[in-house]
Amino acid sequence: MDAEKLKASVINDIDTRRNQLNDLSLKIHSNPELSLQEFKAAAWLAECLKENGFAIESGICELPTAFRASYGKGKPVIAILAEYDALPKLGHACGHNLIAASAVAAGVASKLAVDRFGGSVLVMGTPGEEKQGGKAMMVNRGAFEGVDVAMMVHPGVVNTATTQLLALHTLRVEFFGKAAHAASRPEEGINALEAMLQSFTAINSLRQHIKDKARIHGIITDGGEAANIVPAHSAGDFIVRAEDDQYLDELKQRVINCFTGAAAASGARLEYKWGEVRYASLRSNLTLARLFRRNMQSLGRKMHLNDPERSSISSDMGNVSKVVPGIHPLVAIAPAEVLGHSPEFASASASEDGLRGLLDAGKAMAMTVVDLLANPEMVAMAKEEFDKGK
Ligand SMILES: [Zn+2]
Ligand SMILES: [Zn+2]
Repeated sequence: MDAEKLKASVINDIDTRRNQLNDLSLKIHSNPELSLQEFKAAAWLAECLKENGFAIESGICELPTAFRASYGKGKPVIAILAEYDALPKLGHACGHNLIAASAVAAGVASKLAVDRFGGSVLVMGTPGEEKQGGKAMMVNRGAFEGVDVAMMVHPGVVNTATTQLLALHTLRVEFFGKAAHAASRPEEGINALEAMLQSFTAINSLRQHIKDKARIHGIITDGGEAANIVPAHSAGDFIVRAEDDQYLDELKQRVINCFTGAAAASGARLEYKWGEVRYASLRSNLTLARLFRRNMQSLGRKMHLNDPERSSISSDMGNVSKVVPGIHPLVAIAPAEVLGHSPEFASASASEDGLRGLLDAGKAMAMTVVDLLANPEMVAMAKEEFDKGK
């Protein structure tokens, strides 16, 4: 059976499991779990893959809700990545339930290609995308060693085979001042809240003169205890993002300068800590992106090669794309005006359009696996492109 015929079987396989995949997606949607606490979702996904003949290793990389499901033997090794964490209060407002079900759809359908052409397919359960950067930890702990190619599809409001993902680093800041009666002895106090407010002002000024796609945003998590006490402590959480990893380094230093300046001006002592995990920008592999796009278009879904929105999002898939050739396409599940991380996006993630996105994503990924296993030279091309871009 040639590759094109096998693709028809892959499509049919996913269509026959449509209801089962929809149930899986909706079950995760109605049981939202926060980053690194996705115990139910990880168990349901692993169970479904096990029933379909995958060998399961749970809790890999010292992450209890990470898993690796494998089918087949030897090279090439194609990894399909599942995310399944939700957002506080909003639930599945990033549609990771659809990512998870599309990865299962693609993984199981890819068995047909493995049986015919050899090689292996992995479904990797990658937890904690929204907050802790599970994939970055998994990269650092060797989960992608021996993997030749990695892919996943994220729901969005545009169909695009390559996505712009901004590099990102989180920052925790604290100022330590000195408490005093705010009316009777204010001259004795050192105001940690004012230091924080000055930092915001400095960052607002800085923001006028940074590159187009860079982002700096933050919240105050402690601004004092009572209006009649000079705040002795303030704290805030910040995120710095930039189009590329080098500019992120530069911008991080300029942001820190805003805090040190405010510390000097107020007399408060500054302490800060960058997040343990830094999200890298995405390097989309064009060899893979073109294959994926062609497969998606053959399903009747128009797909851009380059993201027309130049989406200003970030994902730990960026870190994966720095160690193996990878893609992170977007599949539209809602009209362009629907915002990510909103209640409307959470509804879209359980809608008919969401299901269509899930099925198309699963099919196009499995069809791309067919391409790669039937033509190992495509894997070599993807790797050559990856090596050149290093
Ligand atoms: Zn998100
Ligand atoms: Zn997401």
